[in-house]
Amino acid sequence: MTAPHTGGCRCGAVRFEASAEPHHISYCHCSDCRRASGAPVSAFVGFMADQIALDGKALTTFENGPVTRSFCGICGSPIAYVDERLSNHIYFMLGAMDMPAYFRPTLHAHVREQLPFLHMPDDLPRHLRTSVPRPSSSNPGGTQS
Ligand SMILES: [Zn+2]
Ligand SMILES: [Zn+2]
Repeated sequence: MTAPHTGGCRCGAVRFEASAEPHHISYCHCSDCRRASGAPVSAFVGFMADQIALDGKALTTFENGPVTRSFCGICGSPIAYVDERLSNHIYFMLGAMDMPAYFRPTLHAHVREQLPFLHMPDDLPRHLRTSVPRPSSSNPGGTQS
């Protein structure tokens, strides 16, 4: 399968399309993603923002420091996050993709915060904190994958 890659929320009010392959696919175990998703672990597919078309009329956002998360204002599905320190990057929830099985994660981030009963026996690299260095990260406990 090749680009474009499409996705959206569960009610269909938010739709997006990426015209290129993702640059990043990861699991995130941080507590901020856990709160935002409600799930014990999250997974993200990262694209360049200028390769994305997003029909965002129904999109609602929540800012937490440098990170802005978006979700459908109608059905509540989490959609994506952007980090102002990572210009031109956008990270979609893997579960928001139309073909989620295509996007196999390549690493785990924030395993320091992984839940003790969650066992994921793979050989992927495990990062104690973030896997994407921020240019001037002053938030080491942070919210990023
Ligand atoms: Zn929706
Ligand atoms: Zn996270």
